[in-house]
Amino acid sequence: MKIGIAGAGLLGRLLAFEAARAGHEVDVFDPAPGVDAHVAAGWTAAGMLSPVAELECAGSEVFDLGLRSLALWPRIAAALDTPVGLRQDGSLLLAHRGDEGSAHRVVDLLKAKAPDGYAPAALTPAVLRELEPAVQGPSQAWLLPCEGSIHTVQAMAALTDSAAARGVRFHWGTPVAQVDAGELLLPKGPQRFDWVFDVRGTGARPQMPVRGVRGEIFWLHAPGLQLRRPLRLLHPRHRVYLVPREGDIVIVGASEIESEDRSPVSLRSTVELLAAAHSIVPELAEARIVHSESNLRPALPDNLPRVETQAGMTRINGLFRHGWLIAPALVEDALEALDSRLRGNDEKERSSPRRRGFSASVLLDAATP
Ligand SMILES: Cc1cc2nc3c(=O)[nH]c(=O)nc-3n(C[C@H](O)[C@H](O)[C@H](O)COP(=O)(O)OP(=O)(O)OC[C@H]3O[C@@H](n4cnc5c(N)ncnc54)[C@H](O)[C@@H]3O)c2cc1C
Repeated sequence: MKIGIAGAGLLGRLLAFEAARAGHEVDVFDPAPGVDAHVAAGWTAAGMLSPVAELECAGSEVFDLGLRSLALWPRIAAALDTPVGLRQDGSLLLAHRGDEGSAHRVVDLLKAKAPDGYAPAALTPAVLRELEPAVQGPSQAWLLPCEGSIHTVQAMAALTDSAAARGVRFHWGTPVAQVDAGELLLPKGPQRFDWVFDVRGTGARPQMPVRGVRGEIFWLHAPGLQLRRPLRLLHPRHRVYLVPREGDIVIVGASEIESEDRSPVSLRSTVELLAAAHSIVPELAEARIVHSESNLRPALPDNLPRVETQAGMTRINGLFRHGWLIAPALVEDALEALDSRLRGNDEKERSSPRRRGFSASVLLDAATP
């Protein structure tokens, strides 16, 4: 099939890579000026793959998509041409003395929402020291064994390069003004495809009621610091996490502010996030702040992901805080729906001599209401 994708963020790149692997001809359009322009939220994300911890603010749908995606990521990573820093050694929830009340509220909520076998497991101080010797401030810790992380910058680059190597054409500096069944409205006019995907994130307005939720993160350079897995501090006021990356980098994130302001990080977020990070890993005191970044998470009114499919078009949006966690399962579902429609049309083709020899595009156009 000839597939057109509006948006080259996380979803657009993953869709393009998987669709090309499935044998489709793919064009991707994005207003970003070039392949490395860090416009998409996918670049900024810390890359936590946290189906259980995210249950604090998400439901079973996100959990199920997350678990499926955790199983899909290793296969995707193995198919990509360059590494993506995928780690699946679990993550830790941590709480300071004095914050036990709010921490236990969250842990109890996760225990109530997570299915058997996925609930947080309390750690003794000795086990915590063994797992993460650099963690020294907190008085309580819980392990979430199924969780992990991905290096989002490496993954965004690997997805584009590997998709391009399989024939995907990326059209940079090319906004899509409107997405309709089988058609993208480009600056030079409408262009027809057998199928189109609308994955423009916050750029999908007014066709999707999406808003941007500001998030800020920091990159710390901490040579010699041994951190093996993501850490999340259960704090009464802030959601703070630390994610280790190769090259002695630790990502500290993230604020969550109801604003579409993309300006640089604020002093308040800097003080709050970095003070909290230092309080759980005191060795970070001498780390260097090498980078900070803000971006907008695409969210729908109910903060849940949404997939809308009709003949000739699929829209996916609202990945909010969970894009890296759930994208593989959403993309798998979207491409399977396409496949089954193709198979359905093949069946029709076989049973109808009149249609023998028609291209998939004609049959799908015929299926458009
Ligand atoms: C600070 C921060 C931390 C995060 N941490 C995590 C995390 O730890 N774990 C996790 O799972 N998720 C995390 N996320 C969320 C994750 O990044 C998003 O859910 C994900 O990027 C959404 O993917 P997307 O493809 O829908 O949108 P995006 O990645 O934002 O991509 C949208 C693309 O559409 C393009 N576009 C816009 N307008 C148009 C147009 N008119 N035509 C064509 N293209 C257009 C944009 O240029 C962009 O490239 C975080 C996000 C932020 C901001």
